[in-house]
Amino acid sequence: MILARYACNPAETRGRRFAEPDAPTRSAYQRDRDRIVHSTAFRRLVYKTQVFLNHEGDLFRTRLTHSLEVAQLARSMARSLRLNEDLVEAIALAHDLGHTPFGHAGQDALNACMAEHGGFEHNLQSLRVVDLLEECYPQFDGINLTFETREGILKHCSRDNARMLEAKEPGGVGHRFLTGTQPSLEAQLCNLADEIAYNAHDIDDGVRSGLISMEQLREVAIFDNFYCQVQRDFPELTARGKQRRLLFETIRRMLNAQVYDLIAMGNAALTAAQPDSADAVRASGPMLAFGSEMRALTTVLKQFLFRNLYRHPQVMQTNTLAKQIIGELFAEYMVAPQELPESYASATNGVLAVYEEPALHARVVADYIAGMTDRFASREHERLTGRRLLAELPVSETSC
Ligand code: MG
Repeated sequence: MILARYACNPAETRGRRFAEPDAPTRSAYQRDRDRIVHSTAFRRLVYKTQVFLNHEGDLFRTRLTHSLEVAQLARSMARSLRLNEDLVEAIALAHDLGHTPFGHAGQDALNACMAEHGGFEHNLQSLRVVDLLEECYPQFDGINLTFETREGILKHCSRDNARMLEAKEPGGVGHRFLTGTQPSLEAQLCNLADEIAYNAHDIDDGVRSGLISMEQLREVAIFDNFYCQVQRDFPELTARGKQRRLLFETIRRMLNAQVYDLIAMGNAALTAAQPDSADAVRASGPMLAFGSEMRALTTVLKQFLFRNLYRHPQVMQTNTLAKQIIGELFAEYMVAPQELPESYASATNGVLAVYEEPALHARVVADYIAGMTDRFASREHERLTGRRLLAELPVSETSC
């Protein structure tokens, strides 16, 4: 397929932090994707929470399956817009590598622990994983990805952190947060693919868990429109035992509508603006967005999910325990660095750093905790405190 002029072209990459010869058979972005898939952090995603804890059921999304769904959507839209599929795949597969155990509850708790030591942001953490924390290569830390993949991974960044990045890497991935400019279209596309993916799969997981119902969802216009359409087309699906197909078909149509809206709006904006390169895209305003009608519909859906699923008392109860686990783990490692594995303890110069460089020690502790899977964090907490806060549920009760 011929790439559009405004797509990122691997032959024109801004390159890697450490120069390496080109691979003989793969483009720079294919190589980035391969490095991400082979990373330790990528394998951990399978045991990290999306909304439901990993042990709550076998069929709920995890960070890994979420990342795969984002990659599928992003690739499919990229092909249609003639953007670089390999680059969107790399960005999508890496976009959640820095997520803590226990989803957003874990990230909020770790951010609170790090309040006096520079805070914790999961997007910046994803960049730390690929730039620093992966230990694969003899010559450098991290997996040495191209600028364009790193640009897409750093989706948000505070001004303070952007200044810190800019000091280390002038004109690098932190720069756009200081100048208010845009990333590549591939990066913009991955953001939207992320949103389309979780809007769809959180409905599916929410209904499967029993925390929300299809009846409740009918108060959301975009759901109700397609639900009624599917019922009209397939009246037999209202029968008991056919409800899963009804739900799946409704979600499928909703998802398609968002994808087609985004492609149509993107094509219209690109035709009007005619950017002649990826850098021209970076210098313009955002070019990929839903149309105003679709934006309004998805906003109502998000608000519904927030109120009824993410803030469901059962989810909140688990979140409270998850925050307690993260907070107590952090406190333990801060006073007892000998409990950290050797590679982390040596990064802080052992006990000395606790007293002499508390911010450095805290960052090492945050890196270690952020890398944990849900179940490892839970077990490690039990080992250090003697208390088990999250009981693992028997699979038979929850797999449906
Ligand atoms: Mg995501």
